[in-house]
Amino acid sequence: MRVDLLGIPFDGGSSYLRGSALAPKAIRDSLWPEWGNSYCEVGLDLKERLHVLGDLELDIGRELESIEEKIFDSLHLKSKLIMLGGDHSITYPILRAYKRSGCSFDVLQIDAHPDLYDSFQGTRYSHASPFARIMEESLASSLTQVGIRTLNLHQREQSLRYGVRTIEMMEWSPMTEIHFKNPVYVSIDLDALDPAFAPGVSHPEPGGFTVREVISIIQKINVPIVGADVVELNPTVDTSNATALVAAKIVKELAGAMLSK
Ligand code: MN
Ligand code: MN
Repeated sequence: MRVDLLGIPFDGGSSYLRGSALAPKAIRDSLWPEWGNSYCEVGLDLKERLHVLGDLELDIGRELESIEEKIFDSLHLKSKLIMLGGDHSITYPILRAYKRSGCSFDVLQIDAHPDLYDSFQGTRYSHASPFARIMEESLASSLTQVGIRTLNLHQREQSLRYGVRTIEMMEWSPMTEIHFKNPVYVSIDLDALDPAFAPGVSHPEPGGFTVREVISIIQKINVPIVGADVVELNPTVDTSNATALVAAKIVKELAGAMLSK
């Protein structure tokens, strides 16, 4: 088994700043720094097991449809996928592809925001709404969100409506146990991290996770991981490449978890 790393350079779903389309390259460039080695924490040499592929070519004007088609074509038994966003709107077409392939899975979303708007700024397909679409279409068997610290009344209602397990940041502690019944797809929005650790995002929200806490949540997942995405790095507002390095570290530990469970 190996993990394939696929870039999805799409930021057309962003409601505020563009720039996350530049993220896949920035993360790839930070994967193997000259000062480090190629092992992840659980003891696997990722130079052999993590295949760094390039960016998907998306059809202009039908980007979400082409993400679904190309991810569907990339799903096969010999590898698991980690997708590099891009903004969070990409998770909806990705999960349509997983569902269409016959996969059944729970979803863990690590994010400052629930992304459950029925519609936002006149669209139902921006990065503010992917998890509303995912739950409407029953793409996931269950959705657990952790790190949330921006719930408004509408999104609280949406969370109840779709039966989402929303673990707000104010109630989370390192002792919080998150168990899954099915294999899990992990979607990591880098704004879940505190801006002290990940300043290079379009919607920084103080009061978030440390890098260690996010890695620990990944390492404690009790079921196989079927796939994952790391989204919302915006290199145009990053400082000294710090957030790209954090994203690359999270990708490596995700790959380690995917290969060892
Ligand atoms: Mn977010
Ligand atoms: Mn998000």
